Amino acid sequence: MDWILRNARIRDDADLVDIAITNGVIAAVGSTLPQRADQEWDLAGRAVIPGLIDAHTHLDKSYLAAANQSGTLMEAIEVWRRVKQNRSAAEFEWSARRALKSAIAHGVTAMRSHIDTEHRGDLVAVEALLTLREEMKDRIDLQLVALGFPGNGAEADETIESALRLGVDLIGGAPAITPDPTATVDAAFALAERFGKPIDLHIDETEDAQMRTLSTLADRTLAHGMEGQVTAGHCCSLAFMDDASAVAVIDQVARAQIHVITLPLCNLVLMGRNMRPTPRGVTRVGELLARGVNVCAASDNVQDPFNPFGSYDLLQTASLNAALNHMTGESQLYDSLSMVTTRPARLLGLPDDGIRVGAPADLVILDAERVLDAVTAPPIRLATFKRGRRIVRTEISVIGDW
Ligand SMILES: [Zn+2]
Repeated sequence: MDWILRNARIRDDADLVDIAITNGVIAAVGSTLPQRADQEWDLAGRAVIPGLIDAHTHLDKSYLAAANQSGTLMEAIEVWRRVKQNRSAAEFEWSARRALKSAIAHGVTAMRSHIDTEHRGDLVAVEALLTLREEMKDRIDLQLVALGFPGNGAEADETIESALRLGVDLIGGAPAITPDPTATVDAAFALAERFGKPIDLHIDETEDAQMRTLSTLADRTLAHGMEGQVTAGHCCSLAFMDDASAVAVIDQVARAQIHVITLPLCNLVLMGRNMRPTPRGVTRVGELLARGVNVCAASDNVQDPFNPFGSYDLLQTASLNAALNHMTGESQLYDSLSMVTTRPARLLGLPDDGIRVGAPADLVILDAERVLDAVTAPPIRLATFKRGRRIVRTEISVIGDW
C-alpha cells in the first residue's frame, strides 16, 4: 500500500473514513482500515474531494498583460488577435506553465483547454502546448481543443486540420462570431466525421435572444449520431430568450446529450455591459440540470484581455456558480461541487464516480471540516494527489500560542 489517508471526511452526513491508495488507484475506503502503508496521514476529520476538473480554459492567453479599454468581448478579441501575432513559443509556454502550476496547486487534476487555430501562425502555440502536455502528463490530464473557424476560408481550414493532425484532441470554434453560424457548425461536424474527433464549441456568447446556434448544434448532433460527444460552452443567449423558447431548446440539448459548460466569472465580466438592469449573463443552469443535462462550470479566460480576474481556482468558480444561480440548498451546493468534479469527469471521458474503490487516486485535501465548505467558503488546498502521488503540499504554520 502506498498511502493511507486516515480520518477523512468525504461526505458531511457520514462517518469519517480511511482511504487506501496503491498503484495510483483507490484500493479501499472504510472506517479504521487495518492495512499499513508506506506513508500515512491523519487528516483529523478534514475534507477530501475528488480532483477538480477544469473543462474550459485558454492556456495560450493567460496572464497576457494587454489593455481592453471598453472591457467588451469584441475589443478583447481584437486586442488578442493583434498581440498574439508577436508571441513566441516560449511566451505561450510561459503562460501555460504558470497557469497549470496555479491550477494544480488549487487541486486541478484534469483540464480541457482551447487553443486558437485560426491562422497558420497559431500553430506555434499549438506545438508549444503539445510539448508541455507531454512534459506534465504525470501531473495533469490535459485535453486540447482546436479553437478555429472551420468552413471560413482556406487558411482557417488548413490551420485547424494541421492542429488535429499534430495531436489536438477536439474540434472547436465560435460560430456566433462568424458570418454564417450554421455553416460553421456544419463544417465542424464534417471535420468531426473526417478525423473521428469530438466537438467542443463556444456557443452563443451573446445577449441576443434570437441566437439559436445551440438549437442547430443539437439538431446536427442527433443527425450525425454524435450524442454525448458534443460540448457547448457559454450558451448565454438561452438566458435572454423567453421561457417557452428556452424550454424547447433545453429539451433538444437533453435529447442530443450535449454537455454544457457555464463560465460564470467571464460571463459576469463580459455580458450585458450596456444593459440596465445589468443581467448576470450566465446560461440557465438550474433548468438545464433539472432536465438532466450534464452541466459543468469552468474558468474560461484568466488574467487576459477578456477577464482581468482569476487564478484557476475552481472552488471559487463553484462558489460563484452557486451564488449566481441561487444554488443555496444543501443538495444544490453538492450539485455545484459536482460541476467542477464528477460532471466534468464525465465530459472528459474520465471515471466519474468520485471517491470509490478502483477509481484513480486523484484527490484534493481541504483545510476544512465540512465538504460543503468547498463551495461556501473555498478553503486552502492542503494537498493535491494525482494518480496516487502527492504532487503539491501546503503547510500552514500558526505562530505563537493561541
Ligand atoms: Zn472560452
